Amino acid sequence: MSAKPRGKVWLVGAGPGDPGLLTIKAARVIGACDVLVYDYLASAAIVGLASRACEKIYVGKKAGAHTLTQDEITALIVRLGLEGRNVVRLKGGDVFVFARGGEEAAELRAAGVAFEIIPGITSAIAAPAYAGIPVTHRDHNTSFTIATGHEDPLKGYTSLDFAKLANPKQTLIFLMAMGSLAGLVGKLLEHGMPPGMPVGIVREGTKPTQETLIGTLETIVADVARVQFKAPAIIVIGDVVRERETIRWFDNTPLFGKRVLVTRAADDAVDFASKLWESGAEPVLAPTIAIGAPDDAAPARAAIAALATYAWVVFTSQHGVDAAFAALAANGGDARRFGGAKVAAIGTRTAARLLAHGVRADFVPPKFVAEDVAAGLLEHASRGDRVLLFGAQEMRDVIATTLRSAGRVVDVVAGYKTSHVHDAAIAEAAASCDIWTFTSASTIASFLENVPDAATRAQGKVVACIGPITAIAAREARLRVDIVPDDYTVDGLLEALEAAVATR
Ligand code: SAH
Repeated sequence: MSAKPRGKVWLVGAGPGDPGLLTIKAARVIGACDVLVYDYLASAAIVGLASRACEKIYVGKKAGAHTLTQDEITALIVRLGLEGRNVVRLKGGDVFVFARGGEEAAELRAAGVAFEIIPGITSAIAAPAYAGIPVTHRDHNTSFTIATGHEDPLKGYTSLDFAKLANPKQTLIFLMAMGSLAGLVGKLLEHGMPPGMPVGIVREGTKPTQETLIGTLETIVADVARVQFKAPAIIVIGDVVRERETIRWFDNTPLFGKRVLVTRAADDAVDFASKLWESGAEPVLAPTIAIGAPDDAAPARAAIAALATYAWVVFTSQHGVDAAFAALAANGGDARRFGGAKVAAIGTRTAARLLAHGVRADFVPPKFVAEDVAAGLLEHASRGDRVLLFGAQEMRDVIATTLRSAGRVVDVVAGYKTSHVHDAAIAEAAASCDIWTFTSASTIASFLENVPDAATRAQGKVVACIGPITAIAAREARLRVDIVPDDYTVDGLLEALEAAVATR
């Protein structure tokens, strides 16, 4: 018997929008699949988990703008499965909550294609949760009902039993109901639901664009019309909505809804971006610099081979640490090659990276500006000591000059090079953001090459620089600087941003 190719289809819930709400199992299968079939509710960050080689097929399904019909989508995943492909069919929220996952699974079974279901966090529960509305609460209800509003009572079709739904002790959660809100509200009032019953509507729940509208059964239709509140939204009807006053938590953070431009190198941006998400902001990654090998790698190799001959080895960034350990590893070495050399790390992240390689820094200057670092090193390294400064090719020479003039013997060695990135997407990203962040003078220089009229374009935006040197570079280019934290770290920058935005 010839073996038929064995494909498999995973029906995967992508969660409600915040990429952090994807399950670990979903992330694993998305990362490993050959084909990803997704619709408009799936966030770009989640689609981005698929490999470069993965074929990505967008099947749309926004109300009124279907790209493929449901039958075509089902036929597509069946065909891909029969072809022996490993397919992830990604759906917003959960797979089985008004998402036709049941039909797709049945068709796969009928065609003999193996499948798995990976449930997702449904927007029916998550969007209210991010608005501070718990779907059950001991003071208010003992059950909740999740219903579709796709059937409009005003247009004369509904199979919803309003006599049962109109129960003040039960929370009602409607999906796809913005178009039929007036009909639903009318029916509930008709069946005796109190007119003062609170209603909360949450659109784009769990995303930085989340909006919430609160009213009562009596007011909500007019409220929605007044502010033009639009789908996709979850409608919650019940006393639980009152809890928002007390437990609202997501959409009242200082940076909530702000789009923040992150200009640092892609590798360095991950940590900053996840902290921004936690503060409710939406990071927009626009790397202006890239980290690569120095023009001449020989001096770095030689210095690393002679590590133990130095009294002090100074790392100016985590990229330097990575470059040094890559050079060590290339000739079979490890941390023991430091021998008796003492190690200094500029910045807590640099120190953390060293520790990850098994080296605890002997000295971490309390301030990260070159002048202060040089003064700190002078206290540690004695006259005549050999000092290796291992950093970027374009390193400022302040530290070396200060040390040399005080009688230390300094080798300055380029472990890596930062180069400027030129990409039209940078200007576009900048225009779409409320806040611009710069974490080094080189990000400023490259940004200005990409956005020559930055000074004008910065109007109405907040410009934040991580420290004084970065700020000087910005001001020299006539770019107004609004924020420089006292603590020249990403955490300091974030704190200063939160404080500034809160008082604006
Ligand atoms: N399977 C999805 C629901 C699909 S039906 C789930 O479990 O979440 C599409 C409807 O879901 C939309 O009309 C809207 O009512 C709701 N919806 C989906 N994502 C949402 C979000 N982030 N915020 C508010 N409502 C959302």
